[in-house]
Amino acid sequence: MAGSITIFLDRCNGCTLCVKACPFDAIHMANKKAVIDMAKCTLCGACVEVCELNAIELKKDAGVKKDLSLYKDVWVFCEQKKGVIQSISFELLGEGRKLADKLGVKLCAVMLGSAVESRIAELAERGADKIYIADHPALQSFQDDPYTEVLVKLAEEYLPEIILCGATVIGRSLVSRVAVRLNAGLTADCTALDIAEKERLLLQTRPAFGGNIMAVIITPNHRPQMATVRHKVMKEAAIDKARKAEVIRKNYPDEVMKSRTRLVDIVAEIEETVNLAEADIVVSGGRGLGGPENFAMIRELAKTLNGAVGASRAAVDADWIPYSHQVGQTGKTVVPKLYLACGISGQIQHLIGDEGRKVPDPRFQGE
Ligand SMILES: Cc1cc2nc3c(=O)[nH]c(=O)nc-3n(C[C@H](O)[C@H](O)[C@H](O)COP(=O)(O)OP(=O)(O)OC[C@H]3O[C@@H](n4cnc5c(N)ncnc54)[C@H](O)[C@@H]3O)c2cc1C
Repeated sequence: MAGSITIFLDRCNGCTLCVKACPFDAIHMANKKAVIDMAKCTLCGACVEVCELNAIELKKDAGVKKDLSLYKDVWVFCEQKKGVIQSISFELLGEGRKLADKLGVKLCAVMLGSAVESRIAELAERGADKIYIADHPALQSFQDDPYTEVLVKLAEEYLPEIILCGATVIGRSLVSRVAVRLNAGLTADCTALDIAEKERLLLQTRPAFGGNIMAVIITPNHRPQMATVRHKVMKEAAIDKARKAEVIRKNYPDEVMKSRTRLVDIVAEIEETVNLAEADIVVSGGRGLGGPENFAMIRELAKTLNGAVGASRAAVDADWIPYSHQVGQTGKTVVPKLYLACGISGQIQHLIGDEGRKVPDPRFQGE
C-alpha cells in the first residue's frame, strides 16, 4: 500500500505507546521523540490508533481502483513434473469446479511446460472448461523467474477472478511471487474454500493461531483472489472421458523465459519405502529417538508395514533425516489410515500435518 506517515515532533511527548503498538518493530525513540524506520513500516496504522496526542498522521494513497467486475473464471495452476500432472492439480480441479459452478464462470487449467500437449486431454477429463498452455523448452522444469513471468502475463491478459495453486514446494514459491506482482491477496495453506455468492468472494479457510482457530479470509478489494491448498485436503475431480475443453496456446518470446538462476540438475531422492504423502501407514520419529541411528528402527518398521517414514521438525532440524520426511505445518500433509509417532510429543504444528488421518487422533499419549 502506498502512502506516507508523518510524526509531528511538537506533539510527540516520547510516551513510547507507538513503539509498543508497532507489530513490525519499525518505531524507536531518539531524543525522546518517535522515529519511524520506513524500511520496516507497512503503514498498518497501529501507531496512529494508540497515539493519544494525535502526533502521527497516516495518509494512504487511494491508488487506481481496479474494476473487479472485469475479472472472471476460476484458474487452477496445474503442476507437472517431467510432463506428469501432479495429483494436487486434480484435487484443485475438483474443488475449482464447485467454486466455478457457484460463480457461474468457467473452470480453467493453466499448465506450463515443454512438450505438454499430450496432457491436455487429461485436464479436460478432470473438468477444465478452458486450458491455457504455455509450451517452451525453458518451462520444462519449474524455475521461479520464467514461471512467474508467464503466469503474471497470462493473468494480466485474461484477468482470472480466482487462482488456486497447490501448497507444494513449487506452488508456494511460484504463487507468492505472482501475488506480489499482481498486487493481489494470497491465503496460504487453505483447508476449505467456498464462495459467498452475493459478494462473489472466495472464502478461504485456514488454521490460525497455531491451529487453535479456523480463520475465514476474504479478499474484497483486489483481484485475483489467490489461495494455496495442501495436498490431500480436497478430493480429486472425477474422470469424465467425454469432456472436452477449449485450449488456448500461448507463445512467449525468449526474453520472458530469462532466469536469474540456472537449473543444473534435479536429483531424485531415493525413497526406500512408500511415498509419504500417499501412504496408508506412516511411521514417524522425533526428538525422542535420541539420535539419527535410531531412525533405522523407524525405517525397518515402516518397511515391514509397507508404510512410509515421517519425522518431526525437531528430528529434521537435528539433521537426523532429510526435510522431505517432515510432517506438519511446514512439512508435508499426510492422510494415512494409521499414524505411528515414536518419540514425538504431538505439538500442534506437527498434528496439522496429519489432519486427514482416518484413525481418531490419539494425541500421541504414551510415546
Ligand atoms: C512456525 C512453526 C512451524 C513448525 N512446523 C513444524 C512441522 O511442520 N512439523 C513438526 O513436527 N514440527 C513443527 N514445528 C515444531 C513443533 O512446534 C515442535 O517443536 C516439534 O514438532 C517437536 O518435535 P518432537 O515432538 O520430535 O520433539 P519434542 O517436543 O521434544 O518431543 C519429544 C518426545 O519424545 C518423548 N521421548 C523422549 N525420550 C523418549 C524415549 N526414550 N522413548 C519414547 N519417547 C521419548 C518425549 O516425552 C517427548 O514427548 C513448527 C514450529 C513452528 C513455530
